[in-house]
Amino acid sequence: MGGWASRIRGTGLLLDILFGEQPTCALCSSPAARRDRLCEPCQAGLPLAVGARCGKCSAPIRLRGEVEGGAAGDAPTAPLCRGCQETQHYFAAASAVAVYEGAARTMVADLKYRARLELALPMARLMAAECARVGFAHRCDVAVPVPMHRAKLALRGYNQAEVLCTEVARALWMPQLPDVLTRSELQESQTLHDRAGRRANALRAYSCVRPKAVAGRSVLVVDDVLTSGATADGCARALLRAGAREVCVITFAVSVADARDWIDRSRLRSNGVESIIKQ
Ligand SMILES: [Zn+2]
Ligand SMILES: [Zn+2]
Repeated sequence: MGGWASRIRGTGLLLDILFGEQPTCALCSSPAARRDRLCEPCQAGLPLAVGARCGKCSAPIRLRGEVEGGAAGDAPTAPLCRGCQETQHYFAAASAVAVYEGAARTMVADLKYRARLELALPMARLMAAECARVGFAHRCDVAVPVPMHRAKLALRGYNQAEVLCTEVARALWMPQLPDVLTRSELQESQTLHDRAGRRANALRAYSCVRPKAVAGRSVLVVDDVLTSGATADGCARALLRAGAREVCVITFAVSVADARDWIDRSRLRSNGVESIIKQ
């Protein structure tokens, strides 16, 4: 584990100052203001999760009043996406920086499959800012990464959720507990065909091996992407069973699990990205 941590620290701000190295954008390698920031065009190209979002999992949804069967237009609480209307989640709340598409999807894939660990710093900085915005920064006591099965970890050499968690925890001055959760089994491929099977599998797969470390605490679970929420729920269920008070989830990206909830993309852009470009 020391390898990736020192590699990230080795690209940090301190070294930039000490050696006068020009910081570069982790995504496109062009000059950037700081090592933990993307350059302005890359930042502007991120499909930020702005506009109407599900009150539970933060997935983008149609604007309030357009959600069939959801909360009424003047309801005091945010409407829920289809997935959250149909599934009772174990986590109390979830939030994310970006929609899982375009540059955000590329960043998640590059961090996970191409060992581009330098992406973790700007991603985590945005995740920490999101935690501050939605209140997780004060609400949660400890940060816990979604664990990876040890066979998969041995193959990849690092757990991208733990890499992100380390940097998010550091940015929030929050203790990190990387070893309280374990992934006890690999997914059985025959159960992966339907959503219910995948969810049942994920709920069984995680267990808490250090209950005392989380008992009575509000836990921030950190992962790269939230899709159906099954993984987050598997972790949340294990933590709640171990005595955690509540579980919040922060991810870099959130996908729209149900196409019926898809927001008008032009509206998404005009809400966020274009206004950043114009600044
Ligand atoms: Zn860039
Ligand atoms: Zn939702």
